[in-house]
Parts: sequence; structure tokens; C-alpha cells
Amino acid sequence: MSDASDLNEALQGAGIDTLAVRAGQVRSDEGEHSEALYLTSSYVFADAQEAADRFSGDQPGNVYSRYTNPTVRTLEARIAALEGAESAVATASGMAAILATCMAFLQAGDQVVCSRSVFGTTTVLFTKYMSRFGVETVFVDPTDFDQWQAGISTNTKLVFVETPSNPLCDIVDIARLADVSHQAGALLVVDNCFCTPALQKPLEFGADIVVHSATKYIDGQGRCLGGLVVGAQVHIEEVLGFIRSAGPTMSPFNAWVFLKGLETLRLRMDAHSANAMALARWLEAQPAVEKVFYAGLAHHPGHALAAKQQRGFGGVLSFRVKGGREQAWQVIDATKILSLTANLGDAKTTIVHPATTTHGRLSDAQRAETGITENLIRIAVGLEDVQDIQADLERGLTLI
Ligand SMILES: *Cc1c(COP(=O)(O)O)cnc(C)c1O
Repeated sequence: MSDASDLNEALQGAGIDTLAVRAGQVRSDEGEHSEALYLTSSYVFADAQEAADRFSGDQPGNVYSRYTNPTVRTLEARIAALEGAESAVATASGMAAILATCMAFLQAGDQVVCSRSVFGTTTVLFTKYMSRFGVETVFVDPTDFDQWQAGISTNTKLVFVETPSNPLCDIVDIARLADVSHQAGALLVVDNCFCTPALQKPLEFGADIVVHSATKYIDGQGRCLGGLVVGAQVHIEEVLGFIRSAGPTMSPFNAWVFLKGLETLRLRMDAHSANAMALARWLEAQPAVEKVFYAGLAHHPGHALAAKQQRGFGGVLSFRVKGGREQAWQVIDATKILSLTANLGDAKTTIVHPATTTHGRLSDAQRAETGITENLIRIAVGLEDVQDIQADLERGLTLI
């Protein structure tokens, strides 16, 4: 069972935990058990003929790590297997994955239709940079299908969505959005960062491309930056072409860390989800809490849809305290265990005030429109004992 093609055959139809631990591994002659870390920028050839054949592409194999690296390739094969895709390519960060996707499929005159509830830097990329090259972006309320339908036209080349959204956990019907996108001849790109393939596989619902910030749950322990683009071979070839020419390649060291992260992905995602569910229910019972946003709660407008297209509800929730900014800050500042940081997808629980940090760039009107009120707090629930997270939040909540 050492040959790579034997392994691939044996893994056909394997479960997610098996794929997360095994898919894509190619052992060297040294017989290493853990995936080898090929920390090398270039490769040597046996003779001039081999060099010529590798450069021309007549012979497959490594030339330079901006093109291919065995450790990075193992990660790419593994994430493709987990998402149920033909192919994947790794990038230096999540934003590099989104940029590479844009560069692969867009040109001047094209239009993008994007959910207005996406990662802040994604919005900046579209509004400030893609616009310079004649690409126009229309932003829509992700839960309002009339807006998607009105926005998407034959000029639309990419439709971009995050589900669940950050921080209010809005859920978008991926299958329905894929239909509308395909009718217009556009590709549907889903940023699957919040769920990971452990909880949601957008390609199964008709999405064309999945992008990830591997920096979050795929690492899971806040160590490395990385991104992934996943999809059909024909699409990934286009993205790969840009990455090879422009250079936002993933470091082999980071790829190795992400491989280790993936091994526990499903276990962690289930634990994050269980902790978030318990915390959401507890928060709802607190007199100082006005409203909790978590798709795991039966009254959340996206609950039924999330239950249909996700295996679990994930680790991110938000809630409004009674009062305004002062009361929200009071709760945040009273915590002693939680980490005050905008990051998420970490074993350590993080807490943040979106209106003055992650969503601080928005105008007051935009924040009002998207529900990012001054009394809103976002929590990316980690893997600590949930009663300790609750006790840490109670310190400030009892002051209100
Ligand atoms: C963090 C994040 C990104 C950007 O990823 P980086 O690795 O920080 O570049 C994109 N989308 C979502 C949903 C994110 O949370």
C-alpha cells in the first residue's frame, strides 16, 4: 500500500476523516510516516535531457517551487478530495486565493455580483482594485433573492458569496444561487472559510469554485497564512496559470502545517459547533443579552437552510447586548480568558466588536443596513470548556 495510485484507488468513496488523514500522501523512498516537508525552492535534474524535458513539460516533475512543490501538492490533493473536487491550488493567503480567482476569470468590461456580507478585505479588493481594471462589482443583500436575480446579467462573470456570513450568520441557498448564476453563464464562487468541507461542500450544491482562507479553521491553531482554490480541472488550470506567473504561492512549510491541521478538521469543527451551540443557548438566557445570531438556533431565519446544506452550524456567533457601544465594550473588556482579536478559526475563543474593528470601514448607513449595530459582539468559539467561556462573558454581562 505504498504506491500513490494504489492509495488513490483505495480512497475512492472513503469518508471525510479518512481523506483528511490520508488523501494525497506520496511517500519518499525514506518511508516517512508523516508527510515529508520539502523545504526547497528548486530541484536538480539528472542530466541536460531531463532538464530540457521538464522545462518543456514533456516529462512531469518538479522544476521550481513557484510551479510545484511536493508538500504543497499533497495539501492540494487532500483539500480537493475533501471538497469532492477534481483539483485544487494553494496560495499564500486567503486573499491571494480570491485575487487569483479574479485574475483567472475576469477582464475589463466584466461584472461581479457579490454578497454585501463578505470579508471586509474582499470588498476592498473588488471596489478599490478590480474597479481599476474595468471590472464593476454589484453588491447585494445575500438573503434577498430578488437582488441576486436583478444583479446577475449576461455581463456577470463571477458571483461571489460567503455562507454563513460574518458576523450575523446569514445563510444563502447555494443550489439556488448556482442555478441563477449558471443561467447567466457566470461562475459561482463560494468562500467556504467558515464551514470548511467538514461542514459544507458547496460543489455538491452546484458551486463552481470554492475558496478558502486556510489561515482559519484549516490551520485551526492560528499559526500560518494560506489560501486554497478548489474546483474542476479546467478552472483550476486557469487559476494556476495566474499563480505561476504572478507568484502568490504557498510556502511548503505552511502547507505542511495545514496538512497536520486537516487531520483533526472534522473533530475540531464538530467541537467548535457543539461549543457554539451551547454558548448560543446560554447567551439567549442572559438578561443582559438582547438577541443572539447563530444558525443553529431554531428561530434564526437561516436555520432550516443551514440544516439542509451544512453538516453542522460552525463556531462563529454574534449577539447584541442591551445598550450600545459602552455596554458591548464593557463585556469585551471584562473578559480575562477570551482573546480580543479579529481572527477566527482558532482553538482559542476570540471576541471582537465588529462596528469598530472588522466593519469599522463601513459608513454608518452601511452598518445600519447590514445590522452591524454598536451593541453587537462577535465570538469565534474555540475549544475551551464552554462553562469557562460563559463565566468569562458573565463578568461583563452582570455589569449591564
Ligand atoms: C480571513 C478571511 C479571508 C482572507 O484570508 P487571509 O488568509 O487572511 O488572506 C477571506 N475570507 C474569509 C471569510 C475570511 O475569514
